[in-house]
Amino acid sequence: MEEKGNTKAYAIIVAAGKGTRMGTEVPKQLLSYGGSTVLETAAGVFARHPLIDRMIIVAPRDGSLDERYREIARSLEEKSGRSEGSILIIRGGGERSDSVMAGLGAASFYAGEDGCSADDVIVLIHDAARPGVSEDIITRNIEAMESCEAVCTAVPSTDSIRIVNCENTEYIGSLALKETITYPIMNTDIVRRELVYRVQTPQTFRLSDITGAYGLAASDGYTATDDAAIAGHAGIKVAIIEGSAANSKITTKEDIHMATRSGIGYDVHRFVPERPLILCGTPIPSNLGLDGHSDADVAVHALMDALLGAAGLGDIGRHFPDTDDRYKGADSMKLLEEVKGMLGDAHIVNVDITIIAQEPKLAPYIDQMRDNVAGTLGIPASAVNVKATTEEGLGFTGRREGMAAMAVAAIEGSN
Ligand code: MG
Repeated sequence: MEEKGNTKAYAIIVAAGKGTRMGTEVPKQLLSYGGSTVLETAAGVFARHPLIDRMIIVAPRDGSLDERYREIARSLEEKSGRSEGSILIIRGGGERSDSVMAGLGAASFYAGEDGCSADDVIVLIHDAARPGVSEDIITRNIEAMESCEAVCTAVPSTDSIRIVNCENTEYIGSLALKETITYPIMNTDIVRRELVYRVQTPQTFRLSDITGAYGLAASDGYTATDDAAIAGHAGIKVAIIEGSAANSKITTKEDIHMATRSGIGYDVHRFVPERPLILCGTPIPSNLGLDGHSDADVAVHALMDALLGAAGLGDIGRHFPDTDDRYKGADSMKLLEEVKGMLGDAHIVNVDITIIAQEPKLAPYIDQMRDNVAGTLGIPASAVNVKATTEEGLGFTGRREGMAAMAVAAIEGSN
């Protein structure tokens, strides 16, 4: 990457919203995403970026999340190697524009600290609800500012776009005036798709320009949903740079399903006589069974660890300690059901289990095992795969001393 000269790049992460459209008590920027939160994921990409000199996170104005945000900032500082206290948390305002202006105020303060004029500082303004922002998008924003007045991340529209005519709106049903179902009319000109872009963030401006543009918008009473529009109103030429589909905004709970997390599990149990052999809840005829505190269902134990791993919830030892008598002889399928409960709203995409054993032959029981797992997890059998292998007579499984199992699981959404 090129030397930036005296120019400094500051990131302003706008995270002051309450996320009411999500229909959840937790604001959307604090929902689980990618193993942490939406906010931490989005801000983390900026924190790790070598060309970002300063980070400002704008919190809700009532101060209710200050403490939580400071924790997130501390975690980001630690993970990105930034110095302690370097990520600034400030409070925003009632509207998004008020929050951005608060961020710009903090950026001006930093410019003074850095001995820069507001012309020497570029600010990348990013919505925390876009955790899919990439290092490349940030780099493109900064590099484009070498030759552009301002930059807006955007993606071409792949859908056909129409402007609907609301004046001719028909109301259906005798009581359906404004509150209920309406059908806007679409008999309007086709908007040429190649002229339509979906606007994303970050949007990048010279600090002096965008501060002035917000001042002008305030005095003109001009409002807009994004900063590029505010800049455009002030006559600043905003260039488009390429965003990505992954950088779309989380506005509903469904959007968050885009984040897939995977986990891995591994377990071993020793063969002993006079114990039943139960795999994925299926009793298998065998002269040897597996030793263990519970029913020693090695396949389900590996699966539980994979699911807990995907959800970032530790391991089965933590949740079902073998020092706890409640789990003596426990039916592992019941424990699997408990693990499923711990996943909350997260959706299980698929699971895959490999059982490693020299004997007995497991092929006749595989379908039953798969159906048991699918039934307990409440997912289709097509989302469950169970297979078995030997290790060619090698190692402890080859010597018939015990059995091992591995599993992977993928989940989407927040626990
Ligand atoms: Mg075990």
